Amino acid sequence: MVEPRPELSKLSDYVPGKSIEEIRERYGLKRIVKLASNENPLGASPKAVEAFHEIADSLHLYPRGDAPKLIDAIAKKYGVKTSQIVIGNGSDEIIDMVGKAFIRQGDNCVGITPTFSVYKFTTLSNGADFIGVGEGEVRTSLDDLAKKIDGKTRVVFICNPNNPTGAYYTEKEICDFMGKVPQDVLVFLDEAYAEFATASDYPNMAAALDRFPNLFVNRTFSKIYGLAGLRVGYAMGSVEVVRALWKIKPPFDVNQAAQVAAIAALGDTAHVEATCKMNAEGVELLTREFEALGFKVLPTQANFICVRIGERAKELVTFLESNGMIIRGLTSFGMPEHVRVTVGKPEENAFLLTLVKKWCEA
Ligand code: PMP
Repeated sequence: MVEPRPELSKLSDYVPGKSIEEIRERYGLKRIVKLASNENPLGASPKAVEAFHEIADSLHLYPRGDAPKLIDAIAKKYGVKTSQIVIGNGSDEIIDMVGKAFIRQGDNCVGITPTFSVYKFTTLSNGADFIGVGEGEVRTSLDDLAKKIDGKTRVVFICNPNNPTGAYYTEKEICDFMGKVPQDVLVFLDEAYAEFATASDYPNMAAALDRFPNLFVNRTFSKIYGLAGLRVGYAMGSVEVVRALWKIKPPFDVNQAAQVAAIAALGDTAHVEATCKMNAEGVELLTREFEALGFKVLPTQANFICVRIGERAKELVTFLESNGMIIRGLTSFGMPEHVRVTVGKPEENAFLLTLVKKWCEA
């Protein structure tokens, strides 16, 4: 037998949100709503869809691997140099590239937990240890995180707002933290949900990149821009860090449809605004209604809410699925009593609440 690298034995499979097809096959239902993967319920920006159709005639051509137009558009939006930007096949791939470029066998990486599982996956698959700080609902202080950094630490992962809790760190907290991190430790600040944040002290860390050369800010087109199916993410940092990632980046990973759609989506501020408005209203409604049913809802700055259901959380998830509503149980995140619900369109939120009330009354 051909043996894989020994590090692979430590890895568990990524657990995605269940798909609509899966639930349709299992229960034979017509109407299925998915509020499990933090996708944009309004879909992609219409301008992105138009750009996607326009590219259909040149599908036989390779994309420009260096994606100059997309990089330019991102640079203009954030006021950073084009040499400070890297793109990837979703931000998943950017995390993977960070692992390949910076994490060595025997190192460690530190991160708040519970959090997005790909940080740990990347760490372990590169032969390093993952040191998770925190558990459950508790919002880990960045001081506690800083204390775990030692001579072997290569990368610190912070998800802000955090998936799955929705908690966030302020600009002051992040900047104070950066002051405690040695310059040779990369801080991977994952801002996948940043555009949904409404708190006035939510940070603008892209503007602080010049002050912190070891800060690396990750963003994605999968959430607010509704392009999860096309796979395109981007990250910004010092020229040196970015250059290292371009070196190991697969040459044509971000396809041309993704590139043109992402450029169009960046320019569609109306779609972004409509999404944010609907999200803020949905957060308020879902929070109020779940609380009225007696459940604890964690404060969120993202496009999802984390709700403590209790011991019967798994039962609720199954009940909802059998009625055509997919949400996310959080056992794989180490929070078996909680669920994560993506904020949907008003009618989707109403459908969810009707089912949850039915379950509570049964
Ligand atoms: N970071 C976080 C915090 C996420 O929740 C996700 C997706 N669930 C990603 C990164 C990856 O997103 P993508 O690869 O689609 O850009």
